[in-house]
Amino acid sequence: EPTPVTFLGLGNMGHALASTALAAGHPITVWNRTPSRTTGLAEQGATPAPTPAEAVAATDLTLVCLLTDETVAEVLAPVAESGALKGKTLVNVTNSTPEQARQRASWAQAQGATYLDGGIMAIPQLIGTPHSYIYYSGDEQAFTTHRPLLARFGDPRYVGTDPGLASLYDMALLTGMYGLFTGAAQALALIRSAGLPTTDFAEQLQQFLIGMTAAPAAWGKSLDADTHATAVSTIAVNHAALPNLLATHRDQGLPVDLLTGLQPLLDRAIAEGHATDGLSRLAELLTR
Ligand code: NDP
Repeated sequence: EPTPVTFLGLGNMGHALASTALAAGHPITVWNRTPSRTTGLAEQGATPAPTPAEAVAATDLTLVCLLTDETVAEVLAPVAESGALKGKTLVNVTNSTPEQARQRASWAQAQGATYLDGGIMAIPQLIGTPHSYIYYSGDEQAFTTHRPLLARFGDPRYVGTDPGLASLYDMALLTGMYGLFTGAAQALALIRSAGLPTTDFAEQLQQFLIGMTAAPAAWGKSLDADTHATAVSTIAVNHAALPNLLATHRDQGLPVDLLTGLQPLLDRAIAEGHATDGLSRLAELLTR
């Protein structure tokens, strides 16, 4: 029997989660600051609640998908005051830092609620498809109990009892993504600065980067084993080549601030005697 569930927040993501639960047969109660966002779901059988407190009181389980942790604090404050959180389970998939997630968990526990944090690795359009997964951390019992619902949204990946871990993994993946995006922006700027079209080049860039992703995929093992030997590309060869790359961008009159962090780290790797290591050594240096 699908569990009844409440949704607080029906933005793009909250709406995708709520409609997926509804389509899977879960009776749902919904609240959103702008009430018109509940209309479509109500027509399909959802129960709109006039306040967050009434929404939370309606079911044992509440899924929170708001803009920021500050928004969550603001929306849940009157719910806590009314005592409606006592005995309830909160699954909060709102974007936050690991520290915010830990504090939200402590706060929820102080209200008598059970807390599970989530980090969504998907866009709303992918919710409910095999291409979506969500990290969860915090109360393991809550995860196990509600796994059938959570699995509807995408592959549920429980990463530990520390409520900050889902956010930590989320942030780590996004860190990799931003490295890719900043590198790609700089690469396209270089081609464009030479007056060249970028359509075909961008496709070549994609193919090249897909091939390059094999390198960091192997670094995890190197770091865990603390051995950084390589037959691919040494610190020394990268250290020697990077100045040419920076000079090329400078010669084209481009800003290089997105690229300049790497040179001092390579300098340090050389200075500390790691010239023949592979680039996994850089991650080790950053944590030391
Ligand atoms: P939207 O901007 O579409 O929705 C934001 C939601 O927060 C709306 O329900 C909005 O209500 C509500 N809200 C904002 N401020 C307040 C406030 N002061 N009081 C009450 N409610 C408020 O964002 P998304 O749905 O895209 O994102 C929601 C969360 O999911 C974010 O934390 C986001 O980082 C995360 N996420 C989103 C992804 C995406 O691809 N969209 C991917 C992964 C995570 P109202 O309708 O009244 O404005």
